[in-house]
Amino acid sequence: MQVKVFKFGGASVKDAPAIENLYQIMRLYPDDTVIVVISAMGKTTNFLEKVLEAYHQRPEEVPALVDELQRQHEQVAEQLVPDPGSIVDSLRQLFRQLRERLSCAPSQNYDFDYDQIVSFGELLSTTLISGYLNIAGIPNTWLDARRVIRTDSTFREGRVDWETSARQIQDAVAAGFGKGRVVLTQGFIGGTAENLTTTLGREGSDYSAAIIAHSLDAESVTIWKDVPGLLNADPKRFPDAVKLDHIPYEEALELTFYGASVIHPKTLKPLQNKQIPLYVKSFFHPENEGSVITNCRLSTGVPSYIVKDGQVLLTLFPKDFSFMGVENLSDVFTQLANYRVKINMMQNSALSLSICTDNVGERLKICVDALKKRYKVKYNDPVQLITIRHHTPESVEKAVGDRKVLMRQTSRATIQFVVK
Ligand code: ASP
Ligand code: MG
Repeated sequence: MQVKVFKFGGASVKDAPAIENLYQIMRLYPDDTVIVVISAMGKTTNFLEKVLEAYHQRPEEVPALVDELQRQHEQVAEQLVPDPGSIVDSLRQLFRQLRERLSCAPSQNYDFDYDQIVSFGELLSTTLISGYLNIAGIPNTWLDARRVIRTDSTFREGRVDWETSARQIQDAVAAGFGKGRVVLTQGFIGGTAENLTTTLGREGSDYSAAIIAHSLDAESVTIWKDVPGLLNADPKRFPDAVKLDHIPYEEALELTFYGASVIHPKTLKPLQNKQIPLYVKSFFHPENEGSVITNCRLSTGVPSYIVKDGQVLLTLFPKDFSFMGVENLSDVFTQLANYRVKINMMQNSALSLSICTDNVGERLKICVDALKKRYKVKYNDPVQLITIRHHTPESVEKAVGDRKVLMRQTSRATIQFVVK
């Protein structure tokens, strides 16, 4: 069976007109068998993070926040269909579960609570949209991603058990397609063997689409976005950004690794392994070409720019006057891995190691405290990391200008700067 996987992010389902647009896009594919992966609506995930924070710190604020979320979702249902009764009933059932969970005391594990609560964003959006499409004439089966995408219990960044997930996805989808040609499911969420909900990391719905596509040997994945395709830069920072039409997997992997936020970095590997093309297409202009990531050759030398804010530059000096040699490096990397602190750029000299990393808050603080036992740690923050692929002198001038450069690294295809 040839299956297409479509992924609609939060912006593509942010309100009733956006969801009607999703319906129009689905109508362009009347004969295809499609799995639709959907994120939480608009800024719902951020909103649920606020609910979680209140739950832990100001529980008296929780009821009003949940009421507001419920109003938002019910309002969209009312705008979509004249008689939203059945959709509203299903939404209310989810809100009952959410309120029930929030009425219990928080656990000791914040990340666990995060996944149990923030996952409701996708459960709500897919319940609403599935109900609407069924009424609007696109019969579909709602699939609970928590039952099929199996992860370990690394809450907030569940690690996927590929074999179990593939088996479960194949079985569930075969059953779902028995009833029609569309299966609709949540991005971002999965479940453990003990039936606990996990999430795959912020913006993880793209990754969900890739897991499903990989499991089913899908024909293609299409990510529907509010941009025309994959651009060589963020148009908010670089107004003259241009679309990249055909991008080899390797190039797209490099771009996402360095922080291009159009596609979640974990998305491409599973697709590349099975040679499944990834289309990035405009949600507003589905007739346009968009971008495609495949096994093609890199055609342009157009520089691509990736700018990451909220970075921290750490410089470590061994306290015992030893060199920054392999023993120290191995020790530092072990600590970073233990606390899941990622390295975005690094450089070492005889006496020091500098690392540019995301500011992951508490986790970084604990990691730095652990490192301080053996190293003097200098801390520079906030800094920005600028990466240019296929750099030219002009592109460096354009992106860095006269900013103060704290660290710089060049290879043939990539140049990076940590700037103040
Ligand atoms: N709703 C989740 C988030 O906002 C996942 C996603 O949108 O991809 O992070
Ligand atoms: Mg999103």
